[in-house]
Amino acid sequence: MTSLQTSRSPAPDGSIDPPLDAIRRKVESGIRLSVEDGLTLMRTPDAWTVCSLADRVRRRMHGELAWYNVNKHINYSNICALSCSFCAFHRKRDQDGAYEYSLDDIRREAAAAIEAGATEVHIVGGLHPWLPFEYYTDMMRAIHEVAPTLHIKAFTAVEIVHLARISKRGRDGYEGIKAVLGDLKDAGLGSLPGGGAEVFDDRVHDEAFKGKIRGDVWLDVHRAAHELGLNTNATMLYGHVERMEERVGHMIQLRRQQDRALADWAADRGIASQRDSEENTEDAIVLTGPSEQYPNGRLPQPGQTRMGWFQTIVPLPFIPDNSELQHLPGPIGLENLRMIAVMRLMLDNIPHMKAFWIMHTLDMAQFMLQNGANDIDGTVVWYDITKVEGAGTHQETTVKDLQRAIREAGFVPKERDTLYRPVLRNGHEWTIES
Ligand code: SF4
Repeated sequence: MTSLQTSRSPAPDGSIDPPLDAIRRKVESGIRLSVEDGLTLMRTPDAWTVCSLADRVRRRMHGELAWYNVNKHINYSNICALSCSFCAFHRKRDQDGAYEYSLDDIRREAAAAIEAGATEVHIVGGLHPWLPFEYYTDMMRAIHEVAPTLHIKAFTAVEIVHLARISKRGRDGYEGIKAVLGDLKDAGLGSLPGGGAEVFDDRVHDEAFKGKIRGDVWLDVHRAAHELGLNTNATMLYGHVERMEERVGHMIQLRRQQDRALADWAADRGIASQRDSEENTEDAIVLTGPSEQYPNGRLPQPGQTRMGWFQTIVPLPFIPDNSELQHLPGPIGLENLRMIAVMRLMLDNIPHMKAFWIMHTLDMAQFMLQNGANDIDGTVVWYDITKVEGAGTHQETTVKDLQRAIREAGFVPKERDTLYRPVLRNGHEWTIES
């Protein structure tokens, strides 16, 4: 990984790094940034300007608003057929600490989520070698029996590919993946989280993520979900063996796929589109420009039209502790701020940007709200997959703390559901604001 030199304060005379001037003009006009621009944003020592540009875009899109949600994570099992070198979560069945939830355990977790006032459960786990496909559809149904109002956001792309295999539809390739997603959706699945994307590059995959699915398969799973009308999130796990070019390449692949996912919606809404100078093959859909470019509305809204797009970007720093890659340093503070900012600027067609406080800390998430993020994630209640700095306890926070963090960062806190609809809350009771 190339290390970054950064200055996070303005030059005393107010000047900016000269290569950033052309980028600034593009951002001001709402023109899509190129691969070269992305590399410049990653490499310039003038991180102050990069962050300021991202903040300008963030305020243009979302004003003073910063979203949070009340959610609960359920990690149904840590037993996994794979042993990814960067993963400290997985266990083999006979190893200390291995566990799997029964459907009754899942019902209990769903009931606890309702008790805590959650609007969403976020479900991920290992690739369990023996549980049948029906376990997963039954899991969706069991949650909806106990908690019909909960939105179920579940299963990373590698889990979906695993489910396609165990349901015997893996041989059907893309159609098999889509069939499995269709069954899960019929059983109650509401959306997909964005985990497991890592960095879309075969070299990086072979060096650090061998055994997991490649980037093109991850993108296929999300494309299938979008075609079925499911919204999904997009992540990038950065700060391990990847180069800057590979980070930017990852962003470009996400952006390209989102252009396709949004094309129908954009045509319906009369959204301005422009030729993608990178590819010259398709119309670019830019949502981050000045407000006057969007007379018919800037952001896709649930219910306005058919859903099925990336709704949120979640940059994830690589945390090496307790993994086979713990000799790597992992990214820290300023680099994490810059990544949020660069992803906000490059991913101009994804509406929301999340500062995932679990991995960054709530303190850092406050700064991230000022550098491109408009969402601080949720109360979480129990998160086992990756703990910040190797923290040894389950993590959760309170609505009061999330609201305080947002206010202190200078924004107005607002609760959302999974699809970014505003929530009206009275204690544990809640409805969607009309
Ligand atoms: S990252 Fe996921 S697939 Fe890989 S070992 Fe961990 S739980 Fe299993």
